Amino acid sequence: MTPPTLSVVIPMYNEQEVLPLLIARLRPLLDGAGLDYEVVAVDDGSSDATAPMLLLACREWARLRVVRLRRNSGHQAALTAGLHRARGEYVASIDADLQDPPEKILEMLALARAESLDIVYGVRDDRTTDTFFKRHTAQAYYRVMRRLVGKKVPHNAGDFRLLSRAAVEALRTMPESQPVYRLLVPWLGFPSGEVTYRRDVRAAGSTKYPLSKMVKLAIDSITNFSAAPLRLATWSGLLSFFACFVLGCYSVARFVMHDTVSGWTSLFTAILFLGGVQLLCLGLLGEYMGRLYAEVKGRPTYIVGYDSAEAAEPVLAR
Ligand code: UDP
Ligand code: MG
Repeated sequence: MTPPTLSVVIPMYNEQEVLPLLIARLRPLLDGAGLDYEVVAVDDGSSDATAPMLLLACREWARLRVVRLRRNSGHQAALTAGLHRARGEYVASIDADLQDPPEKILEMLALARAESLDIVYGVRDDRTTDTFFKRHTAQAYYRVMRRLVGKKVPHNAGDFRLLSRAAVEALRTMPESQPVYRLLVPWLGFPSGEVTYRRDVRAAGSTKYPLSKMVKLAIDSITNFSAAPLRLATWSGLLSFFACFVLGCYSVARFVMHDTVSGWTSLFTAILFLGGVQLLCLGLLGEYMGRLYAEVKGRPTYIVGYDSAEAAEPVLAR
């Protein structure tokens, strides 16, 4: 079987409201593009009607492929499943909620082919439709990431992008158990280009990225790419050592001058401070230890329960 030219990977978690809108917009677009394609919809353990709706849709849309994960594994894990299973020469990834215009996928493909690029990022040049909070946390996130990973990380490029087969294969060789693709992809350093677009509001349904998931993504991003927080522990340890040294000299001097007022305040603060620094360092070590532990265990990022390209009969149970 010859591989399709384009695969479109779409992670979905409880997207029953937006799914009909997505299909109605994506299908005519791809059908009209005159290329061989597949759409890989990854159902990330949805608990609503997303999965049955997908299974129903793929009966009459042969190019829609449904991959179901056994449980909710998170956006990046669902994306991993999709990237691993996509067969296209080029693989695009896009969110289900139509915040990123699918029309841009064809523009990305044209650009990648014309300039033989391996990566085309979708860059949001206008985020006015995002909430104030989202905009500012995102801005801080990208600023930190550019410092950690390098200038290669484009500003405001999320998970809307196009990858060549070579880039996908390179990503597949990475055994990371908590991949963060918006950093791993720039890290590859393959020839890349950008397509800018305006971010729309979610077409339907509500965000599947609560603050807790945003924090997790940020922590994964930092610890995946940098040991700088560990160094922070060393630096604060050194700093507190010098502070204690100075304070020690000071107290000895006072003692020599027979001026020893029993200052429990300074003692108390010193103990608190040191205790705090030690806990901070322990916590940091623990964070990286935990990650090492997870990598060593080598548990899969996701478990596929069903793939419509492999199984003949759809199974409704996960
Ligand atoms: N998503 C997922 N698993 C999750 C959370 C989200 O597959 O555990 C998908 C979701 O269905 C959507 C994409 O990830 O296609 C981005 O989520 P969302 O649009 O809710 O995030 P936001 O745009 O609010 O950051
Ligand atoms: Mg969204």
